[in-house]
Amino acid sequence: MELVDRKAIETAYAREIGRVFAAQRRLFEDRFAESPEIPEETWEDDRKEITEVMLLFGLTIALLSFIQHGGSPLTSDDPAFDSAAADSLAKTLAKVRPRPQGFNPLDTGPPAALRGGITERATEIAGDIVAHSRDLLRDFQGRIESEPESVNVRDISHRIYGPHRAAVIATTETTRGQHFGSETAVAGTVGISQDDLWFTVRDRRVCPVCEPLHGRPRSYWGRFYAIGPPDPHAVCRCYIQYANLGEGVQP
Ligand SMILES: [Zn+2]
Repeated sequence: MELVDRKAIETAYAREIGRVFAAQRRLFEDRFAESPEIPEETWEDDRKEITEVMLLFGLTIALLSFIQHGGSPLTSDDPAFDSAAADSLAKTLAKVRPRPQGFNPLDTGPPAALRGGITERATEIAGDIVAHSRDLLRDFQGRIESEPESVNVRDISHRIYGPHRAAVIATTETTRGQHFGSETAVAGTVGISQDDLWFTVRDRRVCPVCEPLHGRPRSYWGRFYAIGPPDPHAVCRCYIQYANLGEGVQP
């Protein structure tokens, strides 16, 4: 099922990525004024800052979805419970308005499978984001050489670090966290089924790629998008209804 507080979380996520991007944008503009070749360590710092936000929001979202789908989180009396990480999660959750119900991060934590999976994804996706930023800059550098008057530094920095890109990342990554949380919970309890149904968000923004998957079972969609949402495209908002949780109601 869809994450109950999805909208509020996604909004807070976009705001947080946007805040990090705004600082990176200012730094980028300063650096660019000195030389259009951005130093390697600037990209590396960008990557680390983005990874940090993705890790915290990814874990918060995955844990909410995991609990919502019947998974058993760690409790604070478990030796594996990480109280420093719990503090960071609490701070992340406090940025979401209204605050989602479902868990108190100070006494409820992600199990190792969830933490490991989200860490791996956050690291990989943040790397992809920075790699794409560098590609965008290269495109602009080509244009600067051929038609220098057509571009200025603010065009470039807003394309790479603008609020639109932050919103795209937040939507896509909310879907990723939601899906990873639900799959991990269901796989560890009632079990994944070939009858699990793909659901799109049925509004005007639904895309032609995902729309034909709506209401189709895993035996069908798994052939095209084995990983599940948001595998089809950026800004995918799809989710799965699990047959073994009794959610498999035909749309
Ligand atoms: Zn989709």
